[in-house]
Amino acid sequence: MSWRVLKFGGTSVTAAPLAAAGIVAAAARERRVAVVVSALAGVTDRLVALVGRARAGAADLDDDLAAIGELHRERARRLNGAAALCRSRFESELRSLRAALAEVRETGSPHAIARALAAGERLSAPLFAATLEAVAGRPVEVIDATELLVAAGSPEEAAPQLEATRQRSRLRLAGCLGPVVVPGFYAGAGDGAPLLLGRGGSDTSATLLGAALAADRVEIWTDVDGAYDRDPRRFPEARLCPALDFAAAEALARSGAKVLHAQAIAPARAAGTPIHLRNTFRPEAPGTVVGPREAVAVRKAA
Ligand code: ASP
Ligand code: MG
Repeated sequence: MSWRVLKFGGTSVTAAPLAAAGIVAAAARERRVAVVVSALAGVTDRLVALVGRARAGAADLDDDLAAIGELHRERARRLNGAAALCRSRFESELRSLRAALAEVRETGSPHAIARALAAGERLSAPLFAATLEAVAGRPVEVIDATELLVAAGSPEEAAPQLEATRQRSRLRLAGCLGPVVVPGFYAGAGDGAPLLLGRGGSDTSATLLGAALAADRVEIWTDVDGAYDRDPRRFPEARLCPALDFAAAEALARSGAKVLHAQAIAPARAAGTPIHLRNTFRPEAPGTVVGPREAVAVRKAA
């Protein structure tokens, strides 16, 4: 049975975790499913601010760390039974975050910065997995992104490595039926150290994994209906595109449209994996399909 990769952005996992889990549970009845999740809304920005203060030498970061911990604990408490499991993961993530920030303060190490910023997704993944277990009624495994995805280059904006990701992810997922939940936003270096894929990089995590696993498709679930031909906030006459070929989507992403991270298209294009852009808050909307030219021509004509 082929894999399908579903990615949920910060707004979805924060404001609609049950709807997101319902969407995953339905997909998991048809396919082996891997879910990529963003950090809760606003958490990466708070981590960026914490890293900035650590770099400036601030030592009094405990209140901010406690607030980030409490934000996640409070959500886990709403999940019957799952709170205890989440709590132990949260505690170990928060300890690693504190250690990474101490290293940032002492050495300014870019690798420590990457570890600190990855904490948002490392906290949201067990939370979403617990929500999904409750909704789907079956066990869900959290797999760290460094065990599946490979990137190379700068720790804050590394480049995805498709061939190495194929090898790493296929080995790790052999015999696994899913569902699995994977934190977005970072991959592992050759030695497994976390490297960020750039702000908004969870889209790239999803397309890289989907391409590596030869997924039937990658679904990117956000809070808009899909890709528009121009910025719908500035142009009321903007029209939703039912389909875009990879080149057109890449041009749109590079022009600054927020629909898809610009680096996310290359792995999907290399493997010919279609990307479906969908709205978690309006799942009835058909969304936009980004794919090979021949495939999207059919949908455009339909
Ligand atoms: N949480 C990260 C960010 O805010 C990555 C993402 O959501 O795609 O940039
Ligand atoms: Mg995004």
